[in-house]
Amino acid sequence: MNKSKLSIFGIGFLALVITIVSCNNGDEDPIIETPAAGSVDITSVVQASYTNGVTISTGNGSITLTSNGTPNHVSAYWGEGHPLYEVNPTGVNPGIIRERTNIMTIPTNPVSASVKEVTALGAIGMSLNGVPIYNDREGGNVPLDPMVLEHFERAGAHVGPSGYHYHVNGDFTTKDDANLVGFLRDGFPIYGRKCVSGVYPSDLDENGGHTSTTADFPTAIYHYHCSNTNYLNLGVYILKAGSYHGTKGTYVQ
Ligand SMILES: [Zn+2]
Ligand SMILES: [Zn+2]
Repeated sequence: MNKSKLSIFGIGFLALVITIVSCNNGDEDPIIETPAAGSVDITSVVQASYTNGVTISTGNGSITLTSNGTPNHVSAYWGEGHPLYEVNPTGVNPGIIRERTNIMTIPTNPVSASVKEVTALGAIGMSLNGVPIYNDREGGNVPLDPMVLEHFERAGAHVGPSGYHYHVNGDFTTKDDANLVGFLRDGFPIYGRKCVSGVYPSDLDENGGHTSTTADFPTAIYHYHCSNTNYLNLGVYILKAGSYHGTKGTYVQ
């Protein structure tokens, strides 16, 4: 190899190096994009999922759901003589199911909140049949105890001063499955104890949720799962305890 051939080779090699370096600078490695906060619009799933006469209106970045708060299934709380009345072998609280307007307003694109607000007494979400979802507490902000649980019928619900509501899993919401139960006040959906794949999620955060795709959302979205802890060994599972992941909207009962 003479001197001129050597220098041509050298220039060629240098050009190749420059090309590789510039390619590396210009093209980023493909990355799996984590959806930006608030990028998942829940409107179409909300519209497709609610039943039992729940009305849905949208506007100004929010969705308003209105129900009469009554279930579309049997319950001891309908009272004797009602076509959907069913005896609860372990008894009931005083109180009967009555229509009561429930209005929940949630964001169309729910986002994670920087400060997580603890759920309080009262409605924390609305199940797909318009019955409100409550957390793991009762009046006086005390945890549900065996006496209270005894009066939940197989729907995992009872009547309190604010009407009929679900606290735990049951025959008409979710048992040991991946059912969509409803949406909480921050706009994020809540599912049963299992993932869509049929396994129990192992990566839930302290608020009982994680971000992944679901049967309803092909784009990954934060969602809650019903607790997978056998509460007080009584064979029931709390739907939702602890804090909201996002910022809660209003719920008027
Ligand atoms: Zn209650
Ligand atoms: Zn999940």
